[in-house]
Amino acid sequence: MTQQADWDIVTDVGITALGVAAARAIESHRENRLMSDPYAELFVAAARPPTPMPTSPKETTADGPWSAMADYLAVRSRYFDEFFAAGPTAQTVLLASGLDVRGYRLDWPADTVVYELDVPKVLQFKQNVLSDNGVSARAEIRPVAVDLRDDWPTALLGAGFDRSTPAAWLAEGLLPFLPDDAVERLFGIVDRLSAPGSRFAIEHVDADPRELATLPPMNTMAGEMGLTVTDMWPADKVFPPVSWLADHGWRVTSSPIGPVAEGYGRQFGPNSAGLRHTVLITATKG
Ligand code: SAM
Repeated sequence: MTQQADWDIVTDVGITALGVAAARAIESHRENRLMSDPYAELFVAAARPPTPMPTSPKETTADGPWSAMADYLAVRSRYFDEFFAAGPTAQTVLLASGLDVRGYRLDWPADTVVYELDVPKVLQFKQNVLSDNGVSARAEIRPVAVDLRDDWPTALLGAGFDRSTPAAWLAEGLLPFLPDDAVERLFGIVDRLSAPGSRFAIEHVDADPRELATLPPMNTMAGEMGLTVTDMWPADKVFPPVSWLADHGWRVTSSPIGPVAEGYGRQFGPNSAGLRHTVLITATKG
């Protein structure tokens, strides 16, 4: 990761947001889809990445890296879609929202506000593509341009976040990019800004990036996107999300992604070896 958060949608960490959008587009075209993101392919078409990305199953092979990534993204997206459906969402905060369009594709109760936190160029790209294509939001979307390694609460509070009202937070596709001190700071901020009854959903990759870099699908995909897993994801991380949250008064559930996938009728094959270390965590502040 660069030191300054100035990447756009086809460079550095920004292109990972485009990659997950491509995987969601593939899933959305499958007959047995676990989630539907009708806007994901618009982003890929508009960005025109240096190496083309597939957006439908017919552009992939069943045992190839993009199929594996689409299975993974399908399970992760569905799990967090269910998290939002299962409790209060009046204030929803997408940390590192990237090209997540939940504010546009899910049904939300009236008066829901969705705060989308990411770097300026990624947020701008997303808004441009959605407005160019006449896509309407289903909640009130408030983009908040920040670097999540810095002091971002001021910007969130300035955008209207109310710390006396329960919030629903999501850290999906984010923690692997942050060093331990930034993850701990982020958890501390979420905790301080969370009124009782707030909920927090987290994707936690419990593995050494040096090992993941050698396993499919990362061993081939990172290179295609011009990335190096070990440059992008700091190693030697020991921050324990589950025990940290429990120690700070949150009731926590944690589910390894393999059994979650099986519960949805998906099996991760050998081409998903690098994706099995994920733990999906949800927590409610007591
Ligand atoms: N959560 C989204 C999703 O699942 O579709 C995006 C995931 S994408 C893999 C990673 C996102 O994290 C990118 O949009 C990137 O810009 C954002 N990101 C990474 N580090 C960040 C930081 N320090 N501050 C703000 N955003 C960051």
